[in-house]
Formats: sequence, C-alpha cells, structure tokens
Amino acid sequence: MSVSEILPRIHKLSDAVANQIAAGEVIERPASVVKELVENSIDAASSKINIDIEQSGTGLIRIRDNGQGIHKDDLNLALQPHATSKLATISDFAQIASLGFRGEAIPSIASVSRFTLTSRLQEADQAWSIDNQFNLKPAAHETGTTVEVKDLFYSTPARRKFLKSERTELLHIQSLIRAIALGHFSIGFFVKNEGQSLYRLPACKKDFGQRVMEICGRSFLNKSIPVDAEREGMRLWGWIGLNDVARSQSDRQYFYVNGRYIHDKHVSHAIRLAYDDRIDRGRFPVYVLHLQIDPSQVDINVHPAKSEVRFAETRNIHDFIYSSLLENLEKPVISFVDGINYENAEPKMQEVVHESFNQYHADVKQQTDLLQDKKTISSKYTALLSGQFIIASIDNDQYLIDTTKARELLTEYYLYQHYQTENITQRPILVPVSCELDKAKMNIVTTCSEQITQWGFELEQISPDQIRIRSIPARLVYADTIALVNDLLDALLNKKNEKVIAKQLAMHINDAGLNMDDESIQQLISQISSYEREVIEKTKLPWCKLDQAVLSAILEKK
Ligand code: ADP
Ligand code: MG
Repeated sequence: MSVSEILPRIHKLSDAVANQIAAGEVIERPASVVKELVENSIDAASSKINIDIEQSGTGLIRIRDNGQGIHKDDLNLALQPHATSKLATISDFAQIASLGFRGEAIPSIASVSRFTLTSRLQEADQAWSIDNQFNLKPAAHETGTTVEVKDLFYSTPARRKFLKSERTELLHIQSLIRAIALGHFSIGFFVKNEGQSLYRLPACKKDFGQRVMEICGRSFLNKSIPVDAEREGMRLWGWIGLNDVARSQSDRQYFYVNGRYIHDKHVSHAIRLAYDDRIDRGRFPVYVLHLQIDPSQVDINVHPAKSEVRFAETRNIHDFIYSSLLENLEKPVISFVDGINYENAEPKMQEVVHESFNQYHADVKQQTDLLQDKKTISSKYTALLSGQFIIASIDNDQYLIDTTKARELLTEYYLYQHYQTENITQRPILVPVSCELDKAKMNIVTTCSEQITQWGFELEQISPDQIRIRSIPARLVYADTIALVNDLLDALLNKKNEKVIAKQLAMHINDAGLNMDDESIQQLISQISSYEREVIEKTKLPWCKLDQAVLSAILEKK
C-alpha cells in the first residue's frame, strides 16, 4: 500500500457529518420527515395538526401543532443528537408510551434541510424560533410548535437523486398520513398540498367510523365487520373488511400496537389464518385494527423507523388476534338491503318514464341528501319498465331510476373517488388479452405506469408495440377490455383531468348490456344510497323520487 493510500488517522466525525449519516437511516424520503415530525406533534399531546407540503415535500414540509410546546432553553437541545424528553434511563424503555424516544429525528432532519423550529410553551409569554445554525430569535406563535423543513436533501445530492418522481413521493406522504390518521382518531389532521386541501380530518370524539369512511371509503365501512375483543388485559378493536372490498395489494392493512402503526409477520399470519378462504386467492383483506397491550410486553426498539416491534409473548398475541377475528368473521353478515320483490313490467313505457323524469329533475338534491343519511336502507324493487327503468321503494319512498345512466354515474363517482383514495379494486382477467399500441400510447404505458395502476389497470409491455392487459377495474369487468384500455391511454396521452378520465372509463360499464338480475339491482340501490352529490357535479341525476300520484299514473298506464 503506497503512502497516499494509507488511511488517515482516526478522528471524531463532526456533528454535522454524524447527523447526516444518522439521517440516512431515519430519513429515507420526504414521507419519513412527515412521519417523524407528526409523531413528535402527537407525542406533544396535540389535538390539531396542520401539514403543508410543497413539491412533494422536497420544497417544503411544514407541521404545525397545538401541543405543549418546547421551553426556550431546550430549543437548541432539540437540535442535538440523543436529546429527548421522552426517555431518561434504559428502564424507561419497558414502559415507553410515546412514538419517539431516540432523540434522532430533529438533528437528522435539520442536517439535510433548511430547518426552523418555532415553539411556544403553554403559559410562556413569547414564542421562540431556532434554525439549523442555532440562531435563536423571538417569534410569533400560539401555544404549540411549528417545524419548517425546506429544500430537503439539498446538502446530500446523492440522496436527492434516489428519490422517485414527485408524484410517487406525494403518494408515499398520502399513504403515511392515512396510516397515522387511522391510528389517532382524537387528533384533527388538516393537510394541504401546494396550498390545496388534500385531507380535512377533524378530530373524532366518538364516531370513529366517520374517519374510517373518509380514509377507506364508505364501501369499506359497509362491507366490514366491527371488532372489539378483550382478553387478559389485551384489547383488539377495529374493522375487518369482507371479500367484496379485498384488494390486489396488501396496501390497506392498518395494524396498530398501542397507537403505533406496525408491520409484523406474526400479526399478518394470525389475520390471514382467521380469514382463511373467506378472501379470494391472490387478494388481500383490508382492515383497521388496534391492539392495546401492556407496553412492557412489546419491544419497539427493533427498527430505526420504529415500524417493527417484537412481542414478549408472540404466541399469546397470535392466538388472541386469530380467535377474536375468527369469532367475528363467523357471525352471519347482515345484509344491507332487506329484500327485493322482482316484477316484470311491460315494455313501451319509455315515454311515460321520460315525462316523469323531466318533471322530477327539478329539485333532486334534497332527495339525494335524504337518501345519503340512511345507513340501513330497506328497499323493495317494485317494477321494471322497458328493461331499463326501475321503480324501487327505498325506505318507504318510491324512486324512479334510469339504470343505464345510474350505473354510469355511480361508476364515474366510484372511479373518481377511489382514484383519489387509491383503492380502485382491480380484477385480474382470467385469460389476459393482448393488444397492439402505437408509439405514443406505448410511451404512456411506461411513463404513466403509476396512474395506470391507480386507475385499477395492470398492463404489461410484451413487445415494442404490444401489451398484455392483465387486470382492469373490477367494476368494469364486463367492458370491452381493449376499447377500455385504449380510452384510458388516450385520455392520459391528452392529459385529461381525473374527472374526465373517470367519466370516460365509466361509459364502458354498459358495454356488455344491462344485467338486470336481483343482485345487480340490489347493488345499484345500495350504491345510490351512498352516492355523494358533491363529488361529481351533475345537474340531472338519473333517479328521482316519485310522488304517489305520478307513481299510480305510471303503474296504471302500465
Ligand atoms: P424524540 O422524538 O425521539 O425524542 P426528536 O429528535 O424527534 O426525538 O425530538 C427531540 C425532542 O424535541 C423531543 O423529545 C421533544 O421533547 C422535542 N420536540 C420535538 N418536536 C416537538 C413538538 N412538536 N412539540 C413539542 N416538543 C417537541
Ligand atoms: Mg421524534
């Protein structure tokens, strides 16, 4: 070894370099910053947390809370490694109830960004702010803390290079926020991206279902079983989704241990075992489950991002989860719709029906609002007209429904809404279909692959000008697959917005003709009852309430 190749003498790393190295472990991407900072706000007993994101977190991450705040004299400590208020001795570990404890996050984040921490302790007469140069200045702030992280990774270009597209990074932030929000119902989360509201999740006092619905969708809540079981000081509560809302990925499995979102293979195994063949092969159940146990029974210090844990009594926990879920899954499921009375009606009814439609379009908003509020709907299917229109009684009101248009609208609504929450259910095609694409569309297949997946499709390039269609949205399973995929690619190519894409895809719902069996109609009615008008603005709704006189007139003509 030549002299020039000899390693230099040992020296201690500067704090700045040591922190950047630690940041490599804790701060993988913008979503990790959001996670650490929001956890700090939660640990500070905040009831409201505002999150602002710009450029998918690489431009700005600002977390503002109304928690207990930090003492002025502690501000510079917070920026130093291994400084924490949550742990003093190693024995504290056994009882740790806070999300943080390592005292690493703030110095790590501050070492790879332009960082400011502003805080006001309760009852302090003044707020103070500190930046990563340790400049301490008086500031204006209510009780609580704001952390501002700008230009993340500007000082570590190598890390910046490893970030995925802005869109992907934003999706990571969104899925993180969903996971945190489902872990902390009593905290309000208000999230903005580029100044636009992304999530508005007010604190829930009692009705946790409201938040679950906002995050997992109404369909999940309708098609899930609530769980609440207790044994030997352990409690397991939450919601487990039925097969209807299972997904092609395991991305909606929310499991918390004492409020901490974790992944654990023993837990997943117990849950899967309880579901057994209640979930189709290759599909993944959706669930939100909270396990509350004595903190001394769980070791949380096994992963730098604290997303894995170790249980003292794995077997006991496994048994408890398995048996509690099984007990609930074995209970008979109460059907959403009471019963359907199927009656065929004469054709030639089109004119009458159209007339009454025009008459009743006037003020349908109020009626849909009424429909929406009803959680358990009793419905009776009174008549089928011209093979397309139905009269159904829903909670004692008579409705006239244009099934063709209703199916389109409801599908549009479903696709648009589930695209936002990234949970459009995919359905693999039994025999995958191949189709040829021109260059422009092939280009879209590769450049917009995330959007394509988010719309519920799985496309695979098999040659320079051919793709294989492997999955499409389950809702559109009867559509003309090739036409459907071409429409999607066209829309993406022309940079259509999400509402337009949802609408174009939804038009394919009726490709295969109307299916008017009991089950389809039952589904349609329950979908109408959960339709929210604000999501898709339509001046005319394809259903309306009928008064007795009109109903009699129709049935009489019939
Ligand atoms: P840890 O959370 O592991 O203790 P951090 O580096 O994340 O370490 O934070 C260091 C300390 O700064 C915390 O222990 C806490 O005392 C204080 N702190 C950080 N963020 C907040 C906040 N939002 N509100 C109150 N205190 C905070
Ligand atoms: Mg922390």
